[in-house]
Amino acid sequence: MSNIFAGKTAISLPSLFAALPVAVVLVDRHGNILAANPATSVLQGHSPEAVVGRKVSEFHQDATRNLARDGWLAEAGLTLPDHEMVFDGRHYQVSVRPVRDDNGNVTAFVIAFTDISRLKRVEQRLSEANRRLKARVWEDHLTGIPSRRYLDAALAREIRRARRSGQTLSVVMADIDRFKSYNDRYGHPAGDDCLRLVAQAAAAALGRGEDELCRYGGEEFVAILPGSDLDGAARVAERMRQAVADLAIPHDDVPSGHVTISLGVAGLPPRDIGSQRDRDALIAAADRALYAAKAAGRDRVARTGDDGSSPRSA
Ligand code: GH3
Ligand code: MG
Ligand code: MG
Repeated sequence: MSNIFAGKTAISLPSLFAALPVAVVLVDRHGNILAANPATSVLQGHSPEAVVGRKVSEFHQDATRNLARDGWLAEAGLTLPDHEMVFDGRHYQVSVRPVRDDNGNVTAFVIAFTDISRLKRVEQRLSEANRRLKARVWEDHLTGIPSRRYLDAALAREIRRARRSGQTLSVVMADIDRFKSYNDRYGHPAGDDCLRLVAQAAAAALGRGEDELCRYGGEEFVAILPGSDLDGAARVAERMRQAVADLAIPHDDVPSGHVTISLGVAGLPPRDIGSQRDRDALIAAADRALYAAKAAGRDRVARTGDDGSSPRSA
């Protein structure tokens, strides 16, 4: 039967083959090209007449081996997986289907090439946008230091590490003094500049490579100090305080006349590390110590005892 019928209209298979909008090639099991429709000319610029009678291996070096494998798979009753190929910079999805004789033996393959270049471009743009978005989630856009989300993930990771290594994990929470009145007096854009400078100075004051300063909230920062005990962390906190004071950013509403920060230090001795709930407990302890530093006059460091008892001035 060489015609198919659409209602009363008979359409010849060759004319249907010629009209197919995707490139279709028919090859025998030895890789000889038996037929190719006009759409195949987009693949490598050859007309169908120029490719019929040639071997597929002339156009693709792995074709013979792939067809042998496809023959085994098809005879085993398995579906042939689609794959992708690139011709002249365009991406094609290649679908291979077995053609069988009346006894069910695979005698040939029909290979369809669907141009998926546009889809590929969209896919690439999406994954690039996704990558940029992910990077942005980990970074605080105003100050350029790691974000709150990063802090949460990093603290969970460091708590696990501290439990394994048996070392103390300490954190320092820092808060800019009288920052509301800084904004009121100098304006929010100046407030943003101040935040950036304070973040950079405090981050630069951290000692070790694994220490990290993250933005916790508005004008609050948390430094993670893996392997530091409370004394060590209090020394780092004092360096952060000094680094911000050294910026000498004018602030007429505080006694020193320049922008200062208060800091609270807390530590998690390894014997006390039990669960991820410790993350909240550690932050809460640093927050209590920070509150004590504020209550004691600001521009200073306070710390919580190992046992979480009330903070004392460092
Ligand atoms: P304290 O010394 O007790 O910390 O006083 P404070 O005024 O710093 O504390 P408060 O929590 O009352 O105010 C924090 C202010 O920080 C409120 C807001 O104006 C400012 N702030 C928070 N986030 C930002 C920000 O992203 N940009 C700017 N410019 N200001 C911010
Ligand atoms: Mg605050
Ligand atoms: Mg403040």
